[in-house]
Amino acid sequence: MSEQSESASPIVGIDLGTTNSLIAICDEAGPRVLGGVVSALVPSVVFFETDGSRVVGAEAVARGTNAPSRMVSSSKRFIGRTASEMRAFAAASGVELCEGPRGLAGFVIDGARVLPQEVSAEILGALRARAESELGVPIDRAVITVPAYFDDAQRQATRDAARLAGLRVARLVNEPTAASLAYGLGRAAQAGELVVIYDLGGGTFDCTLLEIVPKTEGLETDCFQVLATAGDTELGGDDIDRAIVDYWNRHPSGPRLADSARCLAVAARLKCALSTTAFAEESITLGGQSITLALTQSELDSIAAPFVDRTLACCRRVLRDAKVSTDAIARVVLVGGSTRLSLVRREVAKCFGQDLYLALDPDRVVALGAAIQGAILSGNRRDLLLLDVLPLSLGLETVGGATTKLLMRNTPIPARATEKFSTSMDGQTSVKLQVVQGEREFVEHCRSLGTFHLTGIPPMPAGIPQLEVVFLVDQNGVLSVRAVERRSGVTAVLQVIPSYGLTEEEASRMDSESITHAREDMRRHRVTDLCVHTKLDIKWISDALKRVRSALEASYVLDLERRLAQLSAMVSAAEADMDSVDPEAFSSLKQGLDVASIRVHECAIAHSIRGTSIG
Ligand code: AMP
Repeated sequence: MSEQSESASPIVGIDLGTTNSLIAICDEAGPRVLGGVVSALVPSVVFFETDGSRVVGAEAVARGTNAPSRMVSSSKRFIGRTASEMRAFAAASGVELCEGPRGLAGFVIDGARVLPQEVSAEILGALRARAESELGVPIDRAVITVPAYFDDAQRQATRDAARLAGLRVARLVNEPTAASLAYGLGRAAQAGELVVIYDLGGGTFDCTLLEIVPKTEGLETDCFQVLATAGDTELGGDDIDRAIVDYWNRHPSGPRLADSARCLAVAARLKCALSTTAFAEESITLGGQSITLALTQSELDSIAAPFVDRTLACCRRVLRDAKVSTDAIARVVLVGGSTRLSLVRREVAKCFGQDLYLALDPDRVVALGAAIQGAILSGNRRDLLLLDVLPLSLGLETVGGATTKLLMRNTPIPARATEKFSTSMDGQTSVKLQVVQGEREFVEHCRSLGTFHLTGIPPMPAGIPQLEVVFLVDQNGVLSVRAVERRSGVTAVLQVIPSYGLTEEEASRMDSESITHAREDMRRHRVTDLCVHTKLDIKWISDALKRVRSALEASYVLDLERRLAQLSAMVSAAEADMDSVDPEAFSSLKQGLDVASIRVHECAIAHSIRGTSIG
């Protein structure tokens, strides 16, 4: 059944933001944000009244001024994550946390537990009501945007929030990808136009490179294909606000300012004012004293410069990942409130060697893109197709805590990958598989998404069962894993319900660490593999030697035993301290044993064929 025939109501687009949320529609008149010019941005804040009713948006902010403990903001930071993960952040922002199901983070309001999904559901519900009253039709389906770095738990929790709000999620779309749709719509895209989306918000930065392939190139639709994406999630306007307060504190004759919400708010206001003036100041009363806080454009530029430099490093990485040079970029589109900083505009333009595309409102572009995707899914726009990518690699744990990646970062989704392997022990009837997400070579440095057991494998000699693992990532970026033993048909399916979500910070850290640690990881991966294979070799060669020792010359046996002892010592040293052994020396010793052991194997095979027992 097509989406169109399922329901006559339109599919709206929702940008469910940490600070503000928006709802948009794309119809015959084109895409537009609902709620009017002034109040389109709904603060992502919910206030819980004593009678149990809830208030959303600007009114919730106003109500919360006098009763902050009944107000919840930034629920997006908590969604799909555990209480223990969020404890430090909650303490710093004065949020009272409790544990929900499976240890998930919940808020305490009036002694009762409220989950982040419920808070987000209130916001979604308010947006839905706004759309219904403005459009005069019932709304039950939405495209909702999520950060590219949201993991499965966070995506799933966002879907749950929608369900609670009575909305079906037609598609979850990554925020930068939605922005590219808003940019590309209605443009006569040139052949294979490459577009960069530079998204700098309050707390996160994302850079995405897309190719817009026009339908003229043998396609039925314009195709938006994400080529590469990267993010630095400890980077945004809020960091600049903190750096401004630090700067004032470093002033020898200035007052000592706490890192308080009030001082940060003044810093943010002056920073925003400096997008249009060269100097800004504001007076506040602190400790009974009136003080004036001031900032010039050039001071702001030098405070913001290190942050902007970090965003540019990220942009360069995206270009490197996609093997694209700056001259090939047709457009750079800005998204997020912090792209209003004049330093950002100057430096980004310089980095890409071109003028920026400023025709889109950076606050609205994500919601507009979501609405366009809604129109595509409802069949109203048949001229566009969106192809997204996987932001982090997905793989399996292998021997010795190493990982093997089945789907690499930046693989277009939906995606499917298969890996074949076998058992390592005779008679093994079950296999434990751990699914991991991240760029590093070892499980301990990646995030475990879940573990599952394939049981009921008929007992067979090691290496005979044919195990096949299939990874499937759907268009929402949600993963499902299936394992099957081909000879017996035994199957296991992993419901990817991780016990906790992957934090943006972790995703970003894991990603940047993967670059820093790549060489060290590769080395350790190699040593781990050498240990596993050498132990098996030692066992097989020792067994063979036991059987045919008397048929071999003493000098050969002595040489073989010396090699076995040397390699056993090498394995023990590596197992005690992975970094103490040189993989090159280890590998050449192993190769020596491989060659030297040919004779003992030949001899053992010859004797087993003759069925003679020796010794
Ligand atoms: P977003 O997450 O996209 O809503 O962006 C919020 C961030 O944009 C906050 O850190 C704001 O302080 C920042 N911001 C909004 N307007 C401006 C402006 N005119 N100049 C600099 N930063 C701004």
